[in-house]
Amino acid sequence: MSEAAGSRVTNGGAQEVDVAVVGAGFAGLYLLHRLRKTGFTTIALEEADDVGGTWYWNRYPGARCDIQTIDYTYTFDPELEREWKWSEKYATQPEILRYLGFVADRYDLRPDIRFNTKVTAANWDEATERWLLETDSGATVSCRYYIMATGCLSAPKPPEIDGVKDFSGEVYFTGRWPHQGVELAGKRVAVIGTGSSGIQSIPLIAEQAAQLTVFQRTPNFALPAHNGPVSADRLALLEGDRASYREQARWSLAGVPLPQQTVVSWQLSEAERRPVRAGMGQGRSRLHPDAVMGRPGGRRRRQRAACGPGPRENPRDRQGSRNGGRAHAARPSVRRQASLPRHQLLRHLQPPQRHAGES
Ligand SMILES: Cc1cc2nc3c(=O)[nH]c(=O)nc-3n(C[C@H](O)[C@H](O)[C@H](O)COP(=O)(O)OP(=O)(O)OC[C@H]3O[C@@H](n4cnc5c(N)ncnc54)[C@H](O)[C@@H]3O)c2cc1C
Repeated sequence: MSEAAGSRVTNGGAQEVDVAVVGAGFAGLYLLHRLRKTGFTTIALEEADDVGGTWYWNRYPGARCDIQTIDYTYTFDPELEREWKWSEKYATQPEILRYLGFVADRYDLRPDIRFNTKVTAANWDEATERWLLETDSGATVSCRYYIMATGCLSAPKPPEIDGVKDFSGEVYFTGRWPHQGVELAGKRVAVIGTGSSGIQSIPLIAEQAAQLTVFQRTPNFALPAHNGPVSADRLALLEGDRASYREQARWSLAGVPLPQQTVVSWQLSEAERRPVRAGMGQGRSRLHPDAVMGRPGGRRRRQRAACGPGPRENPRDRQGSRNGGRAHAARPSVRRQASLPRHQLLRHLQPPQRHAGES
């Protein structure tokens, strides 16, 4: 078992740290790195036997990123960004898992992670003003703070289907796929669900299985991914001005620096819809790269022309004038950002200014 640098073991045998992090996926790894750098003693506790989180558990056939992976990457260290090149637009699970292993090694995080350790309880001790974390391995951790970096999708949900327990065949969960893979050749297979994991795995399972039945309660909207090498246009935008690209991603709705669509397809004529579809054909990027950075003359102008008035202004956009024009309050809503030319957007992206007396 590892001991975090600077931590100590209490009389009761608990390892004492300032901050305990639960989980060693994207969030937990970064937290560990950041907390250590800030000078806290810290340790991460992880149920799995390695780093990766989502990408450790989800090993089903076809598992891969479903946003472009250059946007699904750590951005805290430009050196790290330069050292890692994604091989595809939508990287596979093994590649993303390798990336997270690379990050863990690059920042020497593993010594401060306790693997095979599931946190089972956290009790606050009023006398010492510390949390005592209990784990399934019996080891305990005493900390001032603990942070659950446990993700939103790390616990599989068993199906609530009458009679499911009587099924005598093999049952697998995409989120707990066996590491050695599953031999499906020649078998009759049923897939329950057509969310992202279902959509990714069904075509590959169909290639192997003798017969495949898919149970779909609610159809999802899905687009062909058109995977391939990372798009040269997108890469040029990123590498041309990495800081600006990442800054725009930071203020975007989903971490991807693309303006949000504010018109729906039926508001456009067939002729106007066609370029959008063509853009999708280049891999989910629905907009011409000119429009990615909000340059005037991109698709946005055509949209305005198509629907008359531009996107409705969010009243919060005007907040700045009502509260003394503090920089952060004057930031435009995401909806409004999408319609701003680049130079205006960057003006809005200045970090909030602190005023004397503000804590
Ligand atoms: C197949 C798949 C594809 C995805 N694709 C995308 C995508 O393209 N873009 C996107 O933005 N998001 C995507 N996601 C969402 C993905 O979950 C997040 O992007 C991200 O990986 C979450 O990271 P995290 O560190 O917050 O949590 P996780 O990666 O879920 O890590 C949480 C960790 O906490 C551990 N843990 C949980 N409870 C305990 C406990 N009690 N004790 C100890 N350890 C514990 C788990 O074992 C796990 O390792 C995808 C998810 C899946 C499942």
